[in-house]
Amino acid sequence: MSRGIPIVISAPSGCGKDTILEQLFKINDNLVYSVSATTRQPREGEKDGASYFFRTRSEFEKMIADNEVLEYTEYCGNYYGTPKKAVEEMLSAGKDVILKIEVEGAMNIKKIFSECVLIFVLPPSFTELERRLRKRGTETEETIASRIKQARAELEFADKFDYMIVNGDLDKAVRDVNTVILSEKMSSKRNAALLELVKNS
Ligand code: 5GP
Repeated sequence: MSRGIPIVISAPSGCGKDTILEQLFKINDNLVYSVSATTRQPREGEKDGASYFFRTRSEFEKMIADNEVLEYTEYCGNYYGTPKKAVEEMLSAGKDVILKIEVEGAMNIKKIFSECVLIFVLPPSFTELERRLRKRGTETEETIASRIKQARAELEFADKFDYMIVNGDLDKAVRDVNTVILSEKMSSKRNAALLELVKNS
């Protein structure tokens, strides 16, 4: 059994990465989700251990001190980090691990796992992104403006990713992400052992 691949998915808020992932897990059963730890408050419907591991600041700082996080960042005043042990175990078990993290975390993961795949999800346009943020109905004008500004800043990192996928049509975006993952799994650079196996068979 070969080791799984770490797959990072980043996208500005409102680009639909959660919905893409929800659909992706239905069609690719070798994928597992890396549940991050955070110090932010749970939102309605979020469960500890499934959406995030919700931790206090001092608990999170202890995780950092004990070297239990692969990478972490402070985003909008809260800590977010990827638990190290779980990711290592899932990769060793041959599972492809999805890390849904922001752009700087993505850059750090690339330094730790050079074999990882970085996927950036783009909105079809800023007009559409603004429309989607407005449609949620939960955001104030000020929040919408700040999310758009944040999205523009995050887009500056997009060309450092391996793939860009536009989420205009959800089904297509899901298929596109899965195509990237399946293609990466078949790439020659990841299949030296397979080649030897066939040669010696
Ligand atoms: P939210 O509070 O909306 O769930 O997440 C805020 C941002 O933090 C999102 O861009 C999300 O992808 C990112 N994020 C979530 N977990 C992690 C993590 O473990 N590490 C990093 N670097 N970013 C994370």
